[in-house]
Amino acid sequence: MLNIIIFGPPGAGKGTQSGLLIEKYNLNHISTGDLFRWHTKNETPLGKKVKEIMDSGNLVSDDITIAMLKEEVEKHPDVHGFLFDGFPRTVAQAEALDTLMESMSTAIHGVIELKVSEEEVRARIAKRKSIENRVDDDEDKLNKRIEEYFNKTVHVLPYYENQGRLKTVNGIGAIEKIFEEISIVADSFEVAKS
Ligand code: ADP
Repeated sequence: MLNIIIFGPPGAGKGTQSGLLIEKYNLNHISTGDLFRWHTKNETPLGKKVKEIMDSGNLVSDDITIAMLKEEVEKHPDVHGFLFDGFPRTVAQAEALDTLMESMSTAIHGVIELKVSEEEVRARIAKRKSIENRVDDDEDKLNKRIEEYFNKTVHVLPYYENQGRLKTVNGIGAIEKIFEEISIVADSFEVAKS
């Protein structure tokens, strides 16, 4: 298996680059944000539980998030690999993910940080909002999510950096150029694991 995490602030282009990555490396994409949105849209018991917290732009608790992630991973035991997106966001989640990978006799082979400044992210989201009108892009919520990322979520990066599993890619520029760089990094993960 090849298991990669894509990491970056809201508006960094994770969605676009994830789409390209899963195709090129034949990975199963697991986005905890998409999973939570599916649950809230379909008003499942889990969806009802997390709706308010998601609406506020805060993080869902580790217990709930880890359980949902685990269930999703275990649904796909035979895939070629996973691309995790939006997870982990805390050190507890990172540790739980390592344990889960170990239980499947595999590992997280690397983390790709898509680096975009807070200023650039805000400019991009303002533009996206005017085009797509994504429901979770309203001003307060968005500010909260950006704040969460730059004040809290980034603290999970040293966990991987200290273990030599973190690679940073500049997220500003043409989509294809960024993907070229991401591919070089993903190839290096593939080589390192074997
Ligand atoms: P963003 O566009 O801000 O990167 P996502 O689409 O990844 O956000 O997630 C949307 C929301 O879902 C988050 O604001 C949070 O409430 C919840 N969420 C997603 N992933 C996690 C996680 N790993 N831990 C806690 N909450 C999460």
